[in-house]
Amino acid sequence: MSLRKSKITIALAGNPNSGKTTIFNKITGERQHVGNYAGVTVEKEDGECQHNGVDIHVVDLPGTYSLTAFSLEELIARHFIIDDKPDVIVDILDASNIERNLYLATQLMELNIPLVLVLNMSDTAKLHGIEFDLKLLSELLGAPIVTTIGHKGKGIDEILDAVISVAEGKTGAHGIKMNLGRDIEKQINNIQALIESENKLVEKYSPRWLAIKLLENDEEIHQEDWSDDILAATEKGAKRIEAVLGDSPEIIIADRRYGVISGACQEAVRLTVEARHTYSDKIDEVLTNRILGLPIFFVMMYIVFQLTFAFGEIPVGWIETCFAFLGNSISYLWPNGSDSLLLSMLVDGIIGGVGGVIVFVPNIFLLFLAIAILEDTGYMARAAFNMDRLMHKIGLHGKSFIPMLVGFGCSVPAIMATRTLENRKDRLITMLIVPLMSCGARLPIYTLFIPAFFPQAWQAPVLWLIYLIGILVAVVLAKLLRVLVFKGESSAFVMELPPYRIPTLKGVLVHVWERTWLYLRKAGTIILGISIVMWALSTFPQKTVYDFDHDAISEQATNDYFSAVKSLNPLIDLSSESTVLVDAIRAEYDMSQEQQSYHPFEDGFKLAYQKQNETIEQLIQSEEGKPLENFIKIRKKISSIRYNFETSIENNELEKDSTQYLLLDQDKDHALDAIEKSNPAIYQTVVKYLDDIKYPYDEKIAKIDQAIHSEEMTYSIAGRIGKGIEPVLKPLGFNWKIGTALIGAFAAKEVFVAQLGIVYSLGETNEQSNALRKKLRKDFTPLAAFCIMIFCLISAPCMATIAITRQESGSWKWAMLQLGGLTLVAYILTLVIYQSGLLLGIGI
Ligand code: GDP
Ligand code: MG
Repeated sequence: MSLRKSKITIALAGNPNSGKTTIFNKITGERQHVGNYAGVTVEKEDGECQHNGVDIHVVDLPGTYSLTAFSLEELIARHFIIDDKPDVIVDILDASNIERNLYLATQLMELNIPLVLVLNMSDTAKLHGIEFDLKLLSELLGAPIVTTIGHKGKGIDEILDAVISVAEGKTGAHGIKMNLGRDIEKQINNIQALIESENKLVEKYSPRWLAIKLLENDEEIHQEDWSDDILAATEKGAKRIEAVLGDSPEIIIADRRYGVISGACQEAVRLTVEARHTYSDKIDEVLTNRILGLPIFFVMMYIVFQLTFAFGEIPVGWIETCFAFLGNSISYLWPNGSDSLLLSMLVDGIIGGVGGVIVFVPNIFLLFLAIAILEDTGYMARAAFNMDRLMHKIGLHGKSFIPMLVGFGCSVPAIMATRTLENRKDRLITMLIVPLMSCGARLPIYTLFIPAFFPQAWQAPVLWLIYLIGILVAVVLAKLLRVLVFKGESSAFVMELPPYRIPTLKGVLVHVWERTWLYLRKAGTIILGISIVMWALSTFPQKTVYDFDHDAISEQATNDYFSAVKSLNPLIDLSSESTVLVDAIRAEYDMSQEQQSYHPFEDGFKLAYQKQNETIEQLIQSEEGKPLENFIKIRKKISSIRYNFETSIENNELEKDSTQYLLLDQDKDHALDAIEKSNPAIYQTVVKYLDDIKYPYDEKIAKIDQAIHSEEMTYSIAGRIGKGIEPVLKPLGFNWKIGTALIGAFAAKEVFVAQLGIVYSLGETNEQSNALRKKLRKDFTPLAAFCIMIFCLISAPCMATIAITRQESGSWKWAMLQLGGLTLVAYILTLVIYQSGLLLGIGI
């Protein structure tokens, strides 16, 4: 048996003329005066009744629209509720005018007293063509709902049943905690904390309610004896809200309450006849229309993306240039011979790492600008409303959709965009799965692998399939997280629809700046640290003894180079014994060797150049100087023609068979022909020198450098980890080189391709590298290539994402769950794909 209170007190509240007195009389059998004009019941009336053996004390409060301190009726109602603390408040609503009547309900909810909502005048509502989804509405508002027809006594017993059930704690009825918006909640939290620390009045009033009333400038509450701190915080908060949102707190808070009502009614109340009135409702008829709503939303999102990623590209380019310039300048000014490790840490580690994060600032700024405008106008609430139904099916909230969409650009701003989600569980789920939306930085990986392994016709479908797999995994994981980790609380939420308003410039800028600053601060702290760690991993331990004697190999190549040069002698009328040509080339070689130990601004740099010129000049003056002079002159001409051709192709990004390309190619050939005609023998020799001797030699030297780099990479911790995890990666079809590149990918997904280039000894590579593709084809099957891409998509998001998840979730726990969980999922999925591919013989 449940513990029964011998007597419970209920208070009837409601707007004037909602039928309170009529219901009071039906309940108590008393005959109060029933009037149909406002203000008849100024004094509260008492009555008694018995229902199912429970004594009920009933109080009829004066009719009010609100609970402010503006009128006597409102104060009487408020004082009774606060001072006498009835067990249950019964709010009588005129169902034919539900939105306006619910306003009082939103304020009653703030008082923390169980609430039963009565939809009276349900006959009139029906006549007006209003239909209620009572179950949903009750769920959305967090209170039981009873429908009645007061003057006919219909539903009176149900009211009493509900009251008793609530009073006995069988039915939850505390209403919802109203979210008043980011800016206001922040101020409320401030003031609330101060109130709690002073511990005054809090026995009687809830601190949150007091804070709201102070912000609303409630006359009665303001007259209480507040400390200067609280008054100052209130004034500052109110000013701040006014500056950011463009209206006083009372108005904004009222808007938010109407937003909750509007959102709840949009979902659970259907008007079949009556037209809706306000301009916000009119706009909503279009923007949240069942048919038009989604297409409009997608167009809006397309515009936002365009703005974020297309316009952002320009300033992103500037920032990239700035960081490259900074890195180069530091290398340039670095004193020769002093600690080059420190330089490498500064340039490759810190500037490279932090720069890679700061580079996203323009995107982030623009994205948040668009979001701030959409939020501040009220459109974002509608967008979320439109997506809600769809998102609920996968266990998420409508508002999760925006971060997920943003995730296709970059996970970092996407995770920050989860801030619009007020419910923590929804927010965490969204944060954890956002990295599965394949971000822009992963695209280079796909564009490297797909053309290398798949025929033209398959390329687009494979890319599409990869994106689709990301989305599907996200959907499944969201469901799983909801069922396993974030149990319950997936119940319906009110999607607030506050009235549209024109955003203030200051408000938009403040919101954009708050978020951008958070991002920048992260770049300066967490990312800085991780960058240094990543740099150290790929630098230490340093290799001192190499597997190959690179110096000897390079010396051999240089010797071969000079003897090849000497073999050109007969072609330009030099005796085969003559050394002028070789000496001249050696002078050039010596010059470039010597210059490497100087900065261009140092004297030695210029001196080396002078020395070379003097030597060559002397050689030209010698007996056999004439052919050499011609050789050098023509070489200079040919080199500059080729150079000009190549740079204009590159600068204008010309396609190989475009008209412009062909024209330039023609011009080049004409110019070269003219030179050939003037001196065919020397021309032929120069071309032979450049193409058959010089370029292959340069390439060989570059390869040696890369081989050194590759050896160092293999020797470093990152390389060893790659080797170490190779047995684990083997079943996925990966080798250690992929493992090492994956470590780089953790720093930033873009790094994967560059790192792969390094371990494959190709030096600087990008996703367009055909040489790298050739090597990859040797090592992998199309199946393995597909698996590599899937693994890159799903596994550990980049460190910037982990860092931002840590920051936004407030704990490393979630960041680590994201890191470990996604990697595990990636592993299992890739393993299944690879092994079944092998079994079925697909793509091998
Ligand atoms: P109060 O101001 O909230 O106390 O409202 P009253 O009890 O004085 O009722 C106002 C008017 O509404 C009276 O004329 C009632 O007869 C009428 N009324 C009360 N309940 C209903 C109802 O459910 N349907 C209809 N059509 N009229 C009602
Ligand atoms: Mg009355």
